Amino acid sequence: MIRFASLGSGSRGNSLIVDAGEVKILLDCGFSVRTMVSRLARLSVLPEDITGILVTHEHSDHIAGVNRFACRFGIPVYLTHGTFGFVENDNERHAEYRVIDGHAPFGISSLQIKPFPVPHDAREPVQYAFSDGVHRLGVLTDCGKITPHIVDVLDGCDALVLECNHDSGLLADSTYPAMLKRRISGDFGHLDNQQAASLLRTINSSRLQHFVAAHLSEQNNSPSLVRKAVAEALGCEQSWVGVASQQDGFGWRSL
Ligand SMILES: [Zn+2]
Ligand SMILES: [Zn+2]
Repeated sequence: MIRFASLGSGSRGNSLIVDAGEVKILLDCGFSVRTMVSRLARLSVLPEDITGILVTHEHSDHIAGVNRFACRFGIPVYLTHGTFGFVENDNERHAEYRVIDGHAPFGISSLQIKPFPVPHDAREPVQYAFSDGVHRLGVLTDCGKITPHIVDVLDGCDALVLECNHDSGLLADSTYPAMLKRRISGDFGHLDNQQAASLLRTINSSRLQHFVAAHLSEQNNSPSLVRKAVAEALGCEQSWVGVASQQDGFGWRSL
């Protein structure tokens, strides 16, 4: 069995937990140690129970707490060579870093982990899919554009946590500086609701038991716009569509 939950999702910090029984993995650690500990407690998890931390890329909303949290609790950190290059320069005391190949699946005890490269404005960003051999969970945030490889990896998954960062109209009309608008909406930025919906129309979603929208912009999106776009794409009820929040993430979901 795999279960997963979020400690918070959005541009002010991200962390997801994947629990396959004897192995508990954090995906990113974008909060302070104190916040991580208190939000893990919300999910009845002790920091000492974490087996490893996977990092997607070096933006601070994903790595702000990685080194300190990993040092404090003696947890190994898995990351690509490019991401490691950034972390290495940045810290005095190092956690135990394990550099992974962003194209090569690997295992942490019984949990199978498949990193996959994504277009985003970072040094060597990856996202991850997880499997216990029976069910598959795909996670995709911080991605400017859907590539054929992303479609391959997420096709037929049983659960999906997917970036729905912004509504393109709200972003265009926002007070953000033009350069920032271009960055967010560009091919190395973030997925908007329609890009997310288009991915959902492309992949085989017949096995999908859970869908949670993630990394929503608090200024340029809303849960209701996301639910509408996703429900149209999946042909499901809007109430079935999960939405992760910055403050609360989302609670445990099981496969
Ligand atoms: Zn991010
Ligand atoms: Zn990012």
